[in-house]
Amino acid sequence: MAQSGKKQYAVIGMGRFGLSVASALSGMGFDVLAIDSNEQRTQEVSNIVTHAVSADSTDEEALRALGIRNFDVVVVAIGENIQASILTTLIIKDLGGPLIIVKAQNELHGKVLNKIGADKVIYPERDMGLRVAHHLTSPNILDYIELSDEYSIVDLQITKAMVGKNLKELDIRAKFGCNVMAIKTGAKMNISPAAHDRLAEGDILVIVGEKNDLTKLELAYS
Ligand code: ADP
Repeated sequence: MAQSGKKQYAVIGMGRFGLSVASALSGMGFDVLAIDSNEQRTQEVSNIVTHAVSADSTDEEALRALGIRNFDVVVVAIGENIQASILTTLIIKDLGGPLIIVKAQNELHGKVLNKIGADKVIYPERDMGLRVAHHLTSPNILDYIELSDEYSIVDLQITKAMVGKNLKELDIRAKFGCNVMAIKTGAKMNISPAAHDRLAEGDILVIVGEKNDLTKLELAYS
């Protein structure tokens, strides 16, 4: 499967999330195998992805026959059926080979997935909820990405009062204990901003920090 040099992806579960991942990967030019136990779902995606197959991913033989271990990355996007999600992850882990990324329904499901060796556990609903909430409460926060229990990254749209100031004058590190990692100006990104770099209208600051500190910063600039 990996002869072409391009990464090979398999996505299991063609619900809303799985379909979105599979079609985005396909749109980026990658080969994608979509698997769903529901034949109607696989038919619906057959013209979007490279291959679409109806199979029960809790059936080890079926996954073997599909050569799942030869893929570079497998995304397990089974939502509601937690048992199927766990079994599928376990089987693929046992077969060895691919990087396994699994969507979790809740914290407990995520804990189990981590225990059985999922390489990355994602919480799309929770994470998107967080992003929307931060944007709603402080409209200058364009994005919010949780890095860990303690740390996050925010994209802060600079306010009118910040235009023309440089990073030293803003003094975000001293005031809030957060670090400006980058300044986005349109499509350009300055990834090593200096203290004397001046901000222009429309600039976005990419800031990393402890969650509590970022909350203070969000309130100050909301
Ligand atoms: P979402 O919340 O992202 O829409 P869903 O839980 O609604 O996710 O959808 C998950 C998909 O996974 C469904 O299309 C379902 O048919 C599929 N699915 C569930 N169990 C299995 C399984 N054992 N093997 C393959 N596909 C499965």
